Amino acid sequence: MTANLLDFDLEGLAAFCASLGEKRFRATQLFRWIHQKGARDFGQMTDLARSLRDKLEGSARIEGLPVISQHESADGTIKWLFDVGDGNAVEAVFIPEDDRGTLCVSSQAGCAVGCRFCSTGHQGFSRNMSAGEIIAQLWFAEHFLRAHLRTGGERVISNVVMMGMGEPLQNYAALVPALRIMLDDHGYGLSRRRVTVSTSGVVPMIDRLREDCPVALAVSLHAPNDELRDKLVPLNRKYPIAELLDACNRYLERAPRDFITFEYCMLDGVNDSPQHARELARLVQSHGGRGVSCKLNLIPFNPFPASGLVRSPQQRVQAFAKILSDAGIVTTVRKTRGDDIDAACGQLAGDVKDRTRVDQRIAQQRTVMLKPVPADTTKEA
Ligand code: SAH
Ligand code: SF4
Repeated sequence: MTANLLDFDLEGLAAFCASLGEKRFRATQLFRWIHQKGARDFGQMTDLARSLRDKLEGSARIEGLPVISQHESADGTIKWLFDVGDGNAVEAVFIPEDDRGTLCVSSQAGCAVGCRFCSTGHQGFSRNMSAGEIIAQLWFAEHFLRAHLRTGGERVISNVVMMGMGEPLQNYAALVPALRIMLDDHGYGLSRRRVTVSTSGVVPMIDRLREDCPVALAVSLHAPNDELRDKLVPLNRKYPIAELLDACNRYLERAPRDFITFEYCMLDGVNDSPQHARELARLVQSHGGRGVSCKLNLIPFNPFPASGLVRSPQQRVQAFAKILSDAGIVTTVRKTRGDDIDAACGQLAGDVKDRTRVDQRIAQQRTVMLKPVPADTTKEA
């Protein structure tokens, strides 16, 4: 079995090159070909010696994820469904804005945390993705978009958020090399402030991330007290709010930004009352005496049939936001993007573990591609 070079951060690639008897600068050249130029085969790498290219042909490969489908929303959002084998699929979503291009990336096929309001959580856990599979989403999207938008090689994706399917901190071993490739100047050169890991609150891993690869951190809070959070985010029973907020404060000592983003999914009649808002303000402002430096991001719930939950009315979201803002907390309400293509938060890839439907979709696509264009019979009628 050959090594997939997408799995390696620069250190890993240097070690791999060393095992072939090649110097470190060769690893840098190779890394730049793959991530900066989007090279897919070694034949393209014209400044590498023929002998090295031959060696690579025999021992390595550059293997992305097969694209099952691509949908473009009226607002410019693009969603890709990738095949990760065994009937599993994951999604990545590109969200263009005036001043940035954000890619939302998946870290697992399914998720074991099982949050009440999340369609990925309802599907259960299939498997961890490899570092190569995580980075393949960025590798594919960046180079596809450069060609599609004809940027002349100019970078399109300026921000990455680990907010697709899966709990990134429950796939830590693959997450960290993938983050390092995103940050590496020879890779995608993204600043630590523009790469965000979103977590439901895996406390020990927040501490490790602070040591290994501090990037911007978003924490999915969703409730102002343990009683309610236990019900919405089952992981809270293991790592309750007080421990989570302590970890946030420790993280801030090394974080590239001086605040944590708390995400709060607005669920009608569940966590969206003025009382909840006041309790939330008190919690984040007084925890441990000094509170937690934070911004709040309210996410209107994106419904899916099995949830039995309803999105909070806009007025209630606004009232909730006002209570927090009046308390002095920077609060934003997330714009829902890509609604028309089911690309919004928590709506990703309804097909995980559902082998038949993924297979059907692939088959359907093939049929569409292979079907001859029907003759226009209307004129004859
Ligand atoms: N597992 C990580 C990252 C992926 S989920 C986490 O939970 O943070 C990314 C964000 O989408 C989280 O804040 C999550 O709570 C939110 N989300 C999940 N399902 C949602 C839904 N149906 N509507 C709105 N937001 C949702
Ligand atoms: Fe997993 Fe995040 Fe969904 Fe919770 S919200 S089930 S942690 S993906």
